[in-house]
Amino acid sequence: MNDRYFEFTHSSLGKTISGLIGLPTPPRLRRADAPWAMQPLDGRYVLVGASSGATLSQPILRAIAGAGGEVRVITDHAGLGPVKAAGAALNVKLHTNPGAEGGTRNNAIVFDASGLSSPAQLRELYDFVQPVVRGVASNGRVLLVSRAPESISDVKAKTASTALRGFIRSLGKEVGKNGTTANLIEVPAGADDAIDAVLRFFLSEHSAFVSGQVLPLSKPVTGAVALPGSLEGKIALVTGAARGIGASIAETLAREGAKVVGMDHPSAEGGLGETMAKIGGVGLAIDVTAPDAAARIASEVGKDFGGLDIVVHNAGVTRDKMLRNMPAHFWDMVININLAAILNINEGLLKKGFNDGARVVCISSIGGISGNAGQTNYGATKAGIIGYVDTMAPVFAQRGGAINAVAPGFIETAMTAAMPFGPREVGRRLNSLSQGGLPQDIAEAVTFFASPAASAVNGRTMRVCGQNYFGA
Ligand code: NAD
Repeated sequence: MNDRYFEFTHSSLGKTISGLIGLPTPPRLRRADAPWAMQPLDGRYVLVGASSGATLSQPILRAIAGAGGEVRVITDHAGLGPVKAAGAALNVKLHTNPGAEGGTRNNAIVFDASGLSSPAQLRELYDFVQPVVRGVASNGRVLLVSRAPESISDVKAKTASTALRGFIRSLGKEVGKNGTTANLIEVPAGADDAIDAVLRFFLSEHSAFVSGQVLPLSKPVTGAVALPGSLEGKIALVTGAARGIGASIAETLAREGAKVVGMDHPSAEGGLGETMAKIGGVGLAIDVTAPDAAARIASEVGKDFGGLDIVVHNAGVTRDKMLRNMPAHFWDMVININLAAILNINEGLLKKGFNDGARVVCISSIGGISGNAGQTNYGATKAGIIGYVDTMAPVFAQRGGAINAVAPGFIETAMTAAMPFGPREVGRRLNSLSQGGLPQDIAEAVTFFASPAASAVNGRTMRVCGQNYFGA
């Protein structure tokens, strides 16, 4: 990372000076260094609560215990009933009040809000979270699990469920100082079993730079929901894989066992070769905008591997200029590479190239959500991706797969290193974690979306931006 302020505030001199004059210190985030199969919560404490009448405590406890975590409860909370019942049904030991057992801090707080029936009942959320939020360990997690408002018809219950979105986005901005993140998972009827895997992602160090997000699930297209684990035997194509975020995505998919085919522009063939050599991948020097790109991919991949299980559309460029000064070739280049190529390649691969159950992840950007002066072309492409994955979700679901997008915030890459000092410093600091993300943060989210563990996530765009203050 090339963030001198971060390094300074973590040096011994920097710590002294920051202490004296009160400089804010961005937290050092703990990131996963092991594959998914490792138990991310081994021996860690997760304080679990529920609203009275909650119905999702069983899958929540199953996820925590399955990931090696210890479940704690507060005995005098109104919503203890659902958690106790779930513990008994699953034979999971419930440790009583935090602090009672050696004072170990909670690594996470999870609240099952699925029973909320009115705004007044939000008080149960307050009563549970308010006294304990201060004591969450650094790099902690706060997670709410609710019924998706769209699947609720009662006005009071739907309003209460929607209120959680504002709660979690505000809390994310309060707890980020020690590296803690806060997120909300919305579960429609029929998707209860799918939350196990999703919860494990959010509770783990694989989601270190994801905060302030609301992730609505869908009913999984396949019956059994896989747990996070190996991508052994999967064939994955990553575009723009020579460097930056694409190289990290390729490395992370390979870490999970996928065979990676990295594709990049012929001008980047050298870098592509180096990245693929590191991970035992195969390089394809093809321009994503070539009209026959899909046919060439299908033919090259077909020769050695049959078809594709995973495709990550990561290749992207910026050509920034205020619209009044923007030449047409800047406009055309960005639209063609960042957006039109994705539609063209998928259209071709849907005819020939995708295996059944193929999962596609497109890289959007918070620039497509908040907009940036000088990026009308780029913003258009990244917003277009959000609409595209939403539209195409049923098409991929029909084939047993999914299509989603990840929208990075400020990520430390060659692209952002080239920014002028002022905008770069503003870009990396103005989020709840006060720092830029790393390519690995995007790669972890992409890898999760690309895996069968995310089978209830389809048509969604998740921001990986440390809860950047720009955009919703
Ligand atoms: P990068 O410039 O480091 O890498 C982009 C890669 O795409 C390069 O290897 C490049 O050769 C390849 N590429 C460009 N045109 C191509 C073409 N026509 N055909 C094939 N490959 C082509 O960029 P990055 O920062 O790693 O960004 C990767 C993706 O993430 C992009 O879609 C970008 O818009 C998005 N993104 C990045 C950030 C960030 O902060 N870096 C933020 C939001 C979104």
